[in-house]
Amino acid sequence: MNERDKPDIPELKPCRYCGGRAEIVKKRFTYFEPRPLILCHECGLTTREFETVEEAVSYWNN
Ligand SMILES: [Zn+2]
Repeated sequence: MNERDKPDIPELKPCRYCGGRAEIVKKRFTYFEPRPLILCHECGLTTREFETVEEAVSYWNN
């Protein structure tokens, strides 16, 4: 377990489809540890789940 709640949330680029604001969310409806994914608030796009927030962010920003 390596959960750190640091205030410096990594910067996310705008959604590549609509340019909207994206956010890191963690799924809570599994029995396992919640996993981060990226959600766009404008168009509702979500990525797959990632192991870490860093992975999710680097996927989104690339
Ligand atoms: Zn979007």
